Amino acid sequence: MVKIISKKLFDEARKFIPGGVNSPVRSFQAVGGYPVFVKEARGSKIYGECGKEFIDYCLSWGALILGHAHPEVTEVLLETIKKGTSFGTATRLEIELAKLIVEAIPSIEQVRLTNSGTEAVMTAIRLARAYTKKDKIVKFAGAYHGHADYLLVKAGSAQATLGILASAGVPKDFIKHTLVLPYNDIEKVKETVKKYQKDLAAIIVEPVAANCGVVLPQEGFLQYLRNLADKYNIVLIFDEVITGFRISYSGAQGYFKVKPDLTCLGKIIGGGLPVGAFGGRKEIMQLLAPQGPVYQAGTLSGNPVAVSAGIATLNILKRDNPYSALEERTKGFCEKIEKKALNSKIRLKVNQIGSIFSLFFIDDVKLFKKFFHGLLRNGVYFSPSVFEANFLSVAHSSQDLDKTLEFIGIILKDLRR
Ligand SMILES: *Cc1c(COP(=O)(O)O)cnc(C)c1O
Repeated sequence: MVKIISKKLFDEARKFIPGGVNSPVRSFQAVGGYPVFVKEARGSKIYGECGKEFIDYCLSWGALILGHAHPEVTEVLLETIKKGTSFGTATRLEIELAKLIVEAIPSIEQVRLTNSGTEAVMTAIRLARAYTKKDKIVKFAGAYHGHADYLLVKAGSAQATLGILASAGVPKDFIKHTLVLPYNDIEKVKETVKKYQKDLAAIIVEPVAANCGVVLPQEGFLQYLRNLADKYNIVLIFDEVITGFRISYSGAQGYFKVKPDLTCLGKIIGGGLPVGAFGGRKEIMQLLAPQGPVYQAGTLSGNPVAVSAGIATLNILKRDNPYSALEERTKGFCEKIEKKALNSKIRLKVNQIGSIFSLFFIDDVKLFKKFFHGLLRNGVYFSPSVFEANFLSVAHSSQDLDKTLEFIGIILKDLRR
């Protein structure tokens, strides 16, 4: 039944929408089968057009730390919408959200709002180039920073620092300033930065890599980047679109106590609506138009709907400070998953920090597909790719977790056959 409805909708979607989806990973290409078409969602659950209920560990790719349709956020949204959805001019709400962000994130002195994480990253890099008057940037292999041309670059051969195109339609010339290095490889970073220092404008890094599974920074890695950036006049950019307000209220930079020059945010700060933001040292942010020469704009940037959802979300997070509880629960949950794997003699590594986690099947990555569909059949929705992170929200109950663990135990046993 579930499959029939998903197939029917997916077939229809593919007639009108390329690949049937508005963002590729939603298509289930990485796991096979048909995507779940969601009708509505509440708390920890999503409800499919198929009538089935799923415990959701994708949570709009981490945006919904409070769970779906949080009553307080929804109420604020309804009130806001009644008063108009976009004015294309300044509002008091924008000051409020900017203030919340500046007070929360240690390195941010000023912040500007965009409509997506992609836009935030694009302008952070433009600012870094303007500030340093240099062109090249370093990014790390496996990191995702949105879909700007010059960031759609993947690692080439092990020796090469110049990356290769990760998308058709990008002129080779557009990526000639992007160097791709292995994450956590201090030696390689040191060597490359030294060699290219005169041309390097920025090092952009996800402080916790969360788009190639979850990979934690090695002890000292982020601080090392900070030191190098200082030494060679390079702007250090933390892409905290996932980690911001996720692993702590002060983001990864608060958690690891390393301050970047610029920070990109998204996901959680929109409370489930389309938002991004970038901010940092005033000296750099002042280069933005209208004050400075770096252009950036947006018709719907800072619109009251998205902004009020963001304000409501951050205020709840600030008031309730759920972070240590969420981290404890996620840690316990992940440990139990590993234990169940051990019992089933499957080598499974669970990487976790705060309320983010990912699974890695050591002997055969392909096991994830079976695992994923086993869970899906039992009403548990994990992110539909082994490279995407999973999340807990404050709305996940002990019953949700216990039920999930029970299914995981059964499915892992099945996988051995
Ligand atoms: C999701 C994400 C982005 C892009 O944000 P969008 O709002 O999808 O454009 C950028 N960086 C990281 C680390 C992300 O996870």
